[in-house]
Order: sequence, then structure tokens, then C-alpha cells
Amino acid sequence: MLKLNEILDEKDKRLKCVSKEVKFPLTEKDINIINNSIEYLTNSQLEENLENEKFRPGMGLAAIQLGIPKRYFVIVEELPTGEHDPQKFKNYIVVNPKVVSHSEEMIYAELGEGCLSVNREVPGIVPRHARITIEGFNELGEPIKIRAREELSIAFQHEIDHLNGILFFERIDKTDPFNGENTMRSI
Ligand code: ZN
Repeated sequence: MLKLNEILDEKDKRLKCVSKEVKFPLTEKDINIINNSIEYLTNSQLEENLENEKFRPGMGLAAIQLGIPKRYFVIVEELPTGEHDPQKFKNYIVVNPKVVSHSEEMIYAELGEGCLSVNREVPGIVPRHARITIEGFNELGEPIKIRAREELSIAFQHEIDHLNGILFFERIDKTDPFNGENTMRSI
């Protein structure tokens, strides 16, 4: 299983690189990274693991965060369930993604964005499109199209940024971190 200390820290220069397009079929190593990442992200969101120091909660992980400069990432989204129902998750595996359209409307995560490579809170607003449509491929090389809104839209934009060597806090206005607070919708 993936360990927290295998995830690159923000100080690691490799996170700044622009990852390369992936050729299919994926290697066995890539498949392992995908499966281990999904396992980690799912475990990290389970209520029973909230106090477990082996996990920091995360929704997405890009290959470069594990030192692999290839254009793919996974997102594990917790789905709404009834109060006493077991937690449910939906997995997204996205290779060579392209944003094909996005809303004009911008939003930001009210509590700020988190990142498994950034082990600190960074105050400020990270502007994101409220809705985006992505085209890319799944792990088998089959074309996929995903429409994402709200939190999921933020997660996709955060991960695509990783593929381009951008960390979320670089999108915060340096002179006025809360610039846009009154013009963008918070979620
Ligand atoms: Zn991140």
C-alpha cells in the first residue's frame, strides 16, 4: 500500500515539471500506482481512519506526486448516502486529459484547497471554474468524457494543474489573498 512519505512534498522540484503525454498500454507500474492511489485515497476518506496518522485525507493524486512525470491522475469522490449507510465512493482514472469547455462562473473552496503534497494550511482564494468538461482516456485507453461541477470540478482543475507543474497556492493572489471573495461564489 502507498505510504504518506512516498508522496512528494511541495519543496520537491519534480512537482514543477510539466508531465508528458502517456502512450498506451499503460505499464504495470502505472497500473499499480493507479490502484494504490485509489486504495490510499479511499482509506484516507473513511470515517474510521480520520484519527489514523497513516492517512491525511485527500480526494485526488496525480502521478507526478509519486515522482512519475506522466499525464494521469485519480480522483476518489465520496458520494452522498443516508446517515447510517456505509460510505460510498466513485473513482475517476483520467489519462491525457483535456479541458474541452468550462463555465464562465468562478467558484472557490470556502475552507481552502488541500493537497497531499502541501502539509500546511494556505489561506486565500483559489479561483476555479464552477463547471468543466474534460475529455481523456481511462486506464485501458478508451476515450472518456466527464462533466464535473462544484467540488468535483475544483478537484479536476487541481489535478490538471499538477500535470502542468502548478500547485494550488500559486493561484492565490499574492498581494491580496482574499481577492475575489465578494465576486465569486464559495462552496
Ligand atoms: Zn494536489
